[in-house]
Amino acid sequence: MILTDTHTHLYSEEFQNDRTAMILRAIDAGVSRFFVPSIDSTYTQKMYDLETQFPENVFLMMGLHPCYVKPETYLEELAHVERELESRKFYTVGEIGIDLYWDKTTLTIQQEAFQRQIQLAKKHGLAINIHCREAFDEVFEVLESEKATDLFGIFHCFTGDFGQAKRAIDLNMKLGIGGVVTFKNGKIDQFLNEIDLQHIVLETDSPYLAPVPFRGKRNESSYTKLVAEKLAQIYQLPIEEIARITTENSKAIFGI
Ligand SMILES: [Zn+2]
Repeated sequence: MILTDTHTHLYSEEFQNDRTAMILRAIDAGVSRFFVPSIDSTYTQKMYDLETQFPENVFLMMGLHPCYVKPETYLEELAHVERELESRKFYTVGEIGIDLYWDKTTLTIQQEAFQRQIQLAKKHGLAINIHCREAFDEVFEVLESEKATDLFGIFHCFTGDFGQAKRAIDLNMKLGIGGVVTFKNGKIDQFLNEIDLQHIVLETDSPYLAPVPFRGKRNESSYTKLVAEKLAQIYQLPIEEIARITTENSKAIFGI
């Protein structure tokens, strides 16, 4: 069984004491493909180091996270993203998007950064990995304005309703499903079976959003299996089938 964690912050400080053991634990659990989102330039070298250590398993994204779009630095950070994308292979532009939970004052520059990075993804023939928090309307507005056959990707940590799920899928996006699907009040479990499995990929967003029974604790990539188990219940399919289909879906996005 091959499970794919399409969004994991393996470089996080939360893993500093047991990073290698944590990654090996995931591989042992069948989670052998890790797609690692970029946050800002301070993490780039750490991402390269992980890729060097696990070249068969670690696949990198490049992008500026919306929470790191700050007036003083965002232009320089976007230039970094642009240079990196020119210089070597990445598998997605991400994570990018809009976050109005932490900071509403930067909305305008978040929109600008999101749009510019979508254009970079198109230029390089890459998918995007979208971070959207309390900003569905704002994210959809940018996506609609950039809508095209070469705009595609993943709506990471999808927590919207059925209508928003449909809208994302219509824009060539797959839904990244993680620990929230195991939460009692997570809501997405109530309509997910109405969404064809071809539109779903798995993720942890570790170290955040650990699934039940680890809710509230540190998340890690091996828990992708718990998300897959929950989907096996929802879709009434064997977990091997969930793993196979969602890994195929991830290949369609990342090209690997
Ligand atoms: Zn993330």
